[in-house]
Amino acid sequence: MRRFYSPVQAGHAPMHELHNGAFTDYAEKPSRAQAILDAIGGAEQPHDHGVGAIEAVHDAGYLAFLRDAARLWEEAGRPGQAIPYAFPIVGRRPLALSRIDALLGRYSFDATTPLTRETWRAGYGSAQSALAATQAVLGGERAAFALCRPPGHHAGRDYCGGYCHINVAAVAAQAARDAGVARVAVLDIDYHHGNGTQDIFWQRGDVFYASLHADPATDYPFFWGHADEVGEDEGHGATLNLPLPQGTRIDAFRAAQATALAAIARFGAQLLVVSFGADTWEGDPISRFRLTTDDYPLLAADIAALGMPTAIVMEGGYAIDALGTNVTAFLSGF
Ligand SMILES: [Zn+2]
Repeated sequence: MRRFYSPVQAGHAPMHELHNGAFTDYAEKPSRAQAILDAIGGAEQPHDHGVGAIEAVHDAGYLAFLRDAARLWEEAGRPGQAIPYAFPIVGRRPLALSRIDALLGRYSFDATTPLTRETWRAGYGSAQSALAATQAVLGGERAAFALCRPPGHHAGRDYCGGYCHINVAAVAAQAARDAGVARVAVLDIDYHHGNGTQDIFWQRGDVFYASLHADPATDYPFFWGHADEVGEDEGHGATLNLPLPQGTRIDAFRAAQATALAAIARFGAQLLVVSFGADTWEGDPISRFRLTTDDYPLLAADIAALGMPTAIVMEGGYAIDALGTNVTAFLSGF
């Protein structure tokens, strides 16, 4: 299977994040990508497909903010990292914001996602890896893997959060649409709900979004991913949320995935994007499912049995010592 990764993706390396009321080590480290690279035996560097595919799913003002935030933060004389602390919770008036603190609140939905001088370049590289995998399957490959890091599924059209800045799954799905694939599906099997992907395609009838994730009643991102969220307008019925309780093991997870795959087949998708997170693993430090390494080939084989061209993009997974093994196990199922 062809695999893609750009070295610029390692540049985004925040020192710490706000977690449980204190600063802790930033969990979404560059060493995650290195661990996966080592395990899969390297990857091709993606060609630069340009910024157009990113602009197709993200707001122009938001992308400018991603490019400028760290510089504005430094110019304001701030120590530490660019982290928001004030959010426009009462609604978004169309204000012309310029102060960096206001911009951070406007374009973020949480305080766990610091922006650095390298964030834009790393996110851009991550999106290029996703585009390269998409091009590979459009060109006839059965499946391809994009080692996306930073991940993407929490990033919406005009917001970052959850370690995510550019929604690589959405970039891939939209690129497939723009290449002429009439119906595309995204299957999200990260531990967390992919709120950004859901939001981007919420009103769209041409891209199906199905997600298995920890119940947002107990788990981040809390405000999205409930079972009654099904999309709106032309997208009504094109979003499927399958929340699962903490402690979920393979049998229940696999059954839920079968439900999602059946829905994707009924939808008539012609290309599949898989948002794969290894944070469903039993030893993940920030998650609470109980999947084992041996479970991943089973899940992958069930997906492969759909017989659909499949671009796999990496999302979460924070047990770094086991990450390479778990990703390799998943890819082996194809
Ligand atoms: Zn996750």
